[in-house]
Amino acid sequence: MCRHLAYIGPPVRVRDLLTTGEHSLVHQSYQPRDMRGGGVANADGYGAAWWDGPAAANSALPARYRSAKPIWADTAGLDALGAITSGAIVAAVRSATEGMPVIETACAPFLYREWAFSHNGYVAGWPGSLAEQAQALPVVDLMTLEAPTDSAVLWALIRREIAATTTAEAAVAVLADVMVRTQRAAPGSRLNFLASNGESVVATTCVHSLAISVTPESVLVASEPLCAAAEWQSVPDGHVVIAVPGKARIASVDEWKAA
Ligand code: GLN
Repeated sequence: MCRHLAYIGPPVRVRDLLTTGEHSLVHQSYQPRDMRGGGVANADGYGAAWWDGPAAANSALPARYRSAKPIWADTAGLDALGAITSGAIVAAVRSATEGMPVIETACAPFLYREWAFSHNGYVAGWPGSLAEQAQALPVVDLMTLEAPTDSAVLWALIRREIAATTTAEAAVAVLADVMVRTQRAAPGSRLNFLASNGESVVATTCVHSLAISVTPESVLVASEPLCAAAEWQSVPDGHVVIAVPGKARIASVDEWKAA
């Protein structure tokens, strides 16, 4: 299963975010530590999205780079990402679920307006188990899927609602809602979602690992801690995360829905 991360804080080079730390995203691509039975390596491409300017100006649309190559083999791409500096970045390395194509457009992050999204996991019983939810989507949304994958359909379901949200709380409610509906329709699915609009990071955990590191001026959310530093906190299963630099809230999905 894929590994993903989101960062908001002082500007860094995109390449450095992907490659720095003894367990950087590049390291997680070939030697992940906590895949929970969901694959071995994350060699089926990668992607990064970033927003321009300081956090206050992050209403700008994100830019993106993706490749179907393993991240460690895409030296030209990483060279180019070394020239880009941003204070808000989402990135992912992919392990394609069996039967799904290994193509650039199937690599997260998926974009819509100011949002970037990544899904770590798979939908059990795909594609039949998602058909009922997908049927409720406008035909044009289905015609403009980025790829014929479970993640792209999940993003189509989420993006319609998340684009209209004005708070991180409302955005995480959209993620939690699609997670719960999909668990119900497709038990056994793995549904770690991660999304950002460049100002806040929202995420869910459903089977896969997730960790978070908050400092007074930054926040980093990643499938696995990027280094051994003590500030990494692991997010339990069945939880949602809402984070901005200096502050994160972690709550169980049930608590969240009851609140
Ligand atoms: N199922 C998705 C895909 O194949 C996500 C993969 C993953 O988490 N490994 O693209």
